[in-house]
Amino acid sequence: HQAKPGHEATIEPAPLYDAPYYVGSKKLEGKVALITGGDSGIGRAVAVLFAREGADIAVVYLAEDRDAEETKSAVEKEGRRCILLKADVSERQDCHDAVATTVETFGRIDVLVNNAAFQIHSSDFGNLTEEHFDTTLKTNLYGYFHMAQEAVPHMKPGSAIVNTGSVTGIEGSKQLVDYSMTKGGIHAFTRALSGNLIAKGIRVNAVAPGPVWTPLNPSDKEADDVSKFGADTPMKRPAQPEELAPAYVFLASPHCSSYITGEILPIVGGY
Ligand code: NAD
Repeated sequence: HQAKPGHEATIEPAPLYDAPYYVGSKKLEGKVALITGGDSGIGRAVAVLFAREGADIAVVYLAEDRDAEETKSAVEKEGRRCILLKADVSERQDCHDAVATTVETFGRIDVLVNNAAFQIHSSDFGNLTEEHFDTTLKTNLYGYFHMAQEAVPHMKPGSAIVNTGSVTGIEGSKQLVDYSMTKGGIHAFTRALSGNLIAKGIRVNAVAPGPVWTPLNPSDKEADDVSKFGADTPMKRPAQPEELAPAYVFLASPHCSSYITGEILPIVGGY
């Protein structure tokens, strides 16, 4: 932090929350991460890699259909603790309770991963019902907002929020009009909130995936679509969830990204 002559008054040393990156470290040692949708797809891969990097995990899950227990045992295999919290992120009280239980159990929250989302493919915009639209907005926008507002008071300087956005929030998808709208909103939310939380030392970034092979995509239902999913990327395939997870570690860990906030990181196979 040596200032150049003449600049002494304008340069304040940056607060260093943790040691900078060093090879061989566990990037999330001793941290606690709360992950919505951590029972499935990208969220599960993130939970397991976070555990491998030293974090205890609180998983928010909506229903039994995705087998949250599988995430829990995978986290425990990495030698970390895991709690499963049944909650609907579109309900404020559920978000409050999930955060409260995480803090009661682990004493802290260092990382919030806002990741749970709702989508239904619809090729006909005119047929989108208001009920469907409400669920999309309530899950993808209200859910992220509620979770962040509940978690932030418990987050200390050096903490981080990582939101799952989407390439649809940048490009738009004609079959996912309402979903694309919310994902664009999540990107704007990420940028706006990052500025708002800088003074608290909390960083806010987003990952914007392209096609990822998870239960969310419709291809498992329509055999025809399976071969097409991800075919429009230069890599001509969808990502596996495990190919997304390292980006979440990078954005969550002060060892890796202490000077990065308000960014949207597309992971799109070169698209
Ligand atoms: P997924 O279906 O495996 O995971 C989504 C999770 O969200 C599920 O666990 C589901 O139960 C949960 N969820 C839905 N509504 C909820 C609610 N109201 N309350 C609590 N949990 C709820 O799919 P995924 O692909 O792993 O999705 C994770 C994130 O990645 C989502 O934000 C999604 O929009 C985003 N994404 C996915 C893709 C893709 O191609 N799969 C592409 C871009 C972005």
